[in-house]
Amino acid sequence: MTPAPLTLAPEHLYRHLMGPEAEVGSFVSGRLVAGSGDAIALLNPEDGTPLLTYRDTSVELVRTALDDARVAQRGWAATSARERGIVLARLSELVSRHADNLARLEAWSTGKAVKGCRAQMAAVAESLRYYAGWTDKFAGKVTSVPNGQLNYTLREPLGVVLQIMPWNSPLYLAGGSMAPALAMGNAVLLKPSELTPLSSLVLGRLAIEAGLPPGVLQVVNGLGQTVGPVAIEHPAIRKVVFVGSTQTGRRVNSAAGLRPIPCLLELGGKSANIVFDDADLPAAVDAAVVAAFANTGQNCAAGSRLLVQRPIYERFVEALEQATARYKVGAPLDESADCGPINNAAQYRKVWDMIAMGLAEGATLMTGQAAPASDARGYFIPLTVLANVTNTMRIAREEVFGPVVVAIPFDTEDEAVAMANDSEFGLVGAVWTRDIARAHRVAAQVDAGIFWINMYREMHASTPFGGYGNSGYGRGSGEEALHEYTQTKNVWVPYAHGA
Ligand code: NAD
Repeated sequence: MTPAPLTLAPEHLYRHLMGPEAEVGSFVSGRLVAGSGDAIALLNPEDGTPLLTYRDTSVELVRTALDDARVAQRGWAATSARERGIVLARLSELVSRHADNLARLEAWSTGKAVKGCRAQMAAVAESLRYYAGWTDKFAGKVTSVPNGQLNYTLREPLGVVLQIMPWNSPLYLAGGSMAPALAMGNAVLLKPSELTPLSSLVLGRLAIEAGLPPGVLQVVNGLGQTVGPVAIEHPAIRKVVFVGSTQTGRRVNSAAGLRPIPCLLELGGKSANIVFDDADLPAAVDAAVVAAFANTGQNCAAGSRLLVQRPIYERFVEALEQATARYKVGAPLDESADCGPINNAAQYRKVWDMIAMGLAEGATLMTGQAAPASDARGYFIPLTVLANVTNTMRIAREEVFGPVVVAIPFDTEDEAVAMANDSEFGLVGAVWTRDIARAHRVAAQVDAGIFWINMYREMHASTPFGGYGNSGYGRGSGEEALHEYTQTKNVWVPYAHGA
């Protein structure tokens, strides 16, 4: 299928990519299946008007998808590693070919700014390309044992992996999660957020076009409580990868523990972005804006706790206000917008409630509004900088998952590290300083799975991503993900004479 002209209206993109009669449902064993449960109605984040309605999946469809996936996985695992790599490379090319339409579909249906969606489609293609290269390069090893036997390990796929995704970056997270799982010979049952079902369905269809056997990637759209418990209990599922809130992650972890099967949890964050008074301030200010407000702050790795050394605190906050004013909030399909509205009504209300809570706790509103305007349309929230915050306030401790950054002053390096670590989370962190020894000291001491020095937000499929503390465990990317998606078999054989 050739990409549509750029003029295709966003509401037609789904059918352009899926087929002229395509409904929204699940993509199971190579075909679209309509749901039969309760209606799920989605609103357009830009203006709050109806976007689409589809039906929750049924428990029967979840079970059928898993039964089929179990059979398909055996065939996929038996396919040569080289062939698996070729299929993933083809899928990478297809994602690149349709990237613009996928990005526009994603922007329209989720509220994300199209510019950011384009970057994420490129990252999905890159992730598939990266893991396509690993398929025939990841193997076991020979171990030297004392009695003359041969001992070696095999890295074998787990079976069917359940991947449950959130709504903030649907295709980026789904594509990045499935790539290593499929590369290692697993099948995947992908459960997108019920709030963002579309782009994952397209990925399911493109996977078939790329040559992935039907059933190896099952995309089941429905509510978490419909799909989650049934899938986690099903014997075909050998691991659960959960990306979402810490609250739901705990529930998923407990359910998986009863089987027991392992989990990989990528949860929330309240990450510290630490700026010392010797930093390159213009660079730190610009990065702080992107760290806090990219994807309207709906970002697990947001730099939502800005720790600034006291001598530059006021100057920094003032510069931050100015830089924030240049970061454009706009319509999702506005090519010049840096970020769009919040994705959904519940999150929109939560963010406003948290701003009100921060102000009630004594924070000072530097940019933004205390409450929505009476004529507000859609789920837009002005970018919000709160100053004079202490690390003990709830607004400094709880994840907002919206465009709110708190600026907290500190005096010494020890105080900055202690404050950064005084959090239930530990996803990412950053430090800004020209003192190279201090930069590495701070990097070593902050409890976080990813840490940046004089930069923020850089990520690549080749590097491990995952959290400390209540931000989760396991690493969903990089070489470490190959271990996450395989299990070790240890083989012994007599070898030397008389062994
Ligand atoms: P959420 O926890 O509400 O939902 C995530 C997914 O879990 C959805 O698909 C939902 O349907 C499903 N779910 C709900 N109940 C379930 C159940 N009982 N069993 C199984 N699945 C169930 O999270 P959200 O609001 O969609 O996403 C926002 C959260 O995700 C934030 O906390 C954010 O920090 C986190 N997040 C983390 C990362 C990361 O890599 N660490 C990345 C993106 C988002």
